[in-house]
Amino acid sequence: MLAGDSVIHGRGLYARCEIPDGTKVIEYVGEKITKAEALRREERRRAAQKRGDDAGVWIFELNARHDVDGRSSRNTARLMNHSCQPNCRAEIIRGRIWLVAKRDIAAGEELSFDYGYALEHWELHPCRCGSARCAGYIVGAAQRWRLRRKLRGQRRTQSKIENPKSKIR
Ligand SMILES: [Zn+2]
Repeated sequence: MLAGDSVIHGRGLYARCEIPDGTKVIEYVGEKITKAEALRREERRRAAQKRGDDAGVWIFELNARHDVDGRSSRNTARLMNHSCQPNCRAEIIRGRIWLVAKRDIAAGEELSFDYGYALEHWELHPCRCGSARCAGYIVGAAQRWRLRRKLRGQRRTQSKIENPKSKIR
């Protein structure tokens, strides 16, 4: 369904042909590591990010004991972008991570999935997916309502600061 360099346009993956709903599009391959090792790498990554280095998130949860570090360039799936309204979903199938079409995808469409980030550190991951339902930050669908509530709270606080008199009366 998706192979070779022809599908890669900049930082994203595009469907080279029509992809029917339910198709295994691409495997997310990488080094299988323990949770403890994943934690160490994640801490290193965050330290690098604080220094201003461009440190991508490549660690993918496999199961309760292991994760997969997909930073290797042979992992083409790492180029697939996040979307708040994605056309693929990640699925663990017999111990391997697959990105599977969650609807019919037309040729030329950009492929995307929900990175499923936790709410923690949300400010570090602004989202530019451009979908109608974009939450503004990359946070997993299940946590997005919490993010929206947080953002609404921030806006309220801001307007109080900008118009202090409106609240006094
Ligand atoms: Zn978005």
